[in-house]
Amino acid sequence: MRRSCGFAVAACAAPTRILRLAPFQYRGRRRFPDRARSLTRTLRRRSSPAAERARWRSQIVMTGADARSHDAPRQWLASGAPPHPSQGRSHMKPQSQFRIACLALALLAAPAAATEWSYEHGTESWGALDPAFAACSSGTQQSPVDVVTGKAHSGTLPALSFHYASSADFHVDHLGHTVQAAVPAGNTLTIGSKTYQLLQFHFHTPSENFIDGEQYPLELHLVHRASDQSLAVVAILFDEGAADPQLQKIVSVLPQEEGQSGTVSGFNLRALVPHGRVYRFKGSLTTPPCSEGVSWHVVNARRSASLPQLAAFAQLFSGPHFPGGNRRPVQSLHGRRPSYRSGE
Ligand SMILES: [Zn+2]
Repeated sequence: MRRSCGFAVAACAAPTRILRLAPFQYRGRRRFPDRARSLTRTLRRRSSPAAERARWRSQIVMTGADARSHDAPRQWLASGAPPHPSQGRSHMKPQSQFRIACLALALLAAPAAATEWSYEHGTESWGALDPAFAACSSGTQQSPVDVVTGKAHSGTLPALSFHYASSADFHVDHLGHTVQAAVPAGNTLTIGSKTYQLLQFHFHTPSENFIDGEQYPLELHLVHRASDQSLAVVAILFDEGAADPQLQKIVSVLPQEEGQSGTVSGFNLRALVPHGRVYRFKGSLTTPPCSEGVSWHVVNARRSASLPQLAAFAQLFSGPHFPGGNRRPVQSLHGRRPSYRSGE
């Protein structure tokens, strides 16, 4: 799937199809393959008719993108929960395109470029697509990263103070490269004397940031912007476990195709951020133009989500157009060391 860089900005980090997200993609997690098989069986039971699966299998064969043996789980997932044909090509209605364009403009101060990008042909090529994307290949503070907790240092840092609503209503939009919640105005994050407005949150599957070499099935990015236009992103990682009631509100209305939206009511934003140590570092947008100067805050405590919940996201960003999901691989730290607040 291809996107203009305007969308990239909206997605401080972009997402992928998670089921594929499946375990077999995670480093250091041997238990995932079995779970992937189990999940696949579940998906098959719930899947569309055999003819539909056969159609998708034939498409996979035609593209050859999933022909490698280690992609077998991905084929299972594809057969049980095939990606929609709209992936990889825009079949949006004009009004949907306009709506998304407006979203991008409203959420991002950065100028939108016309150059399209995708996950399909590898994220390593982004920097060569447009001079405006140069930071993607030449930047020294790129995101995501592998947070090595043993190398992080503590300091006297201001606490993160979230002023989120306990009951929010909003739309969840499928933007093609991610699913994004357009939260209402008035939710803020204060760090010291600086206040950021929450603009949106979106998902990546599997996770973009790693912690101590481990990747997780799902990552949520809360994107904030201050009056000086600087961005602060709070990253929350999901691991497999009990179902998350808040996440379920989104899963229940998850738009399946680019340009579609769902409506969420009574979402508790306040309960979204788990308590625990927060690793901070300077990074970038994880989609073109990969602009740097973004303040990253990766919450060490993980939220849990059930396999079906994780699968719901993974299915959206799998298939030949998302060979690695909707996530950018970890980038070099170039000497950066995360910090955390003393006492956390
Ligand atoms: Zn993101």
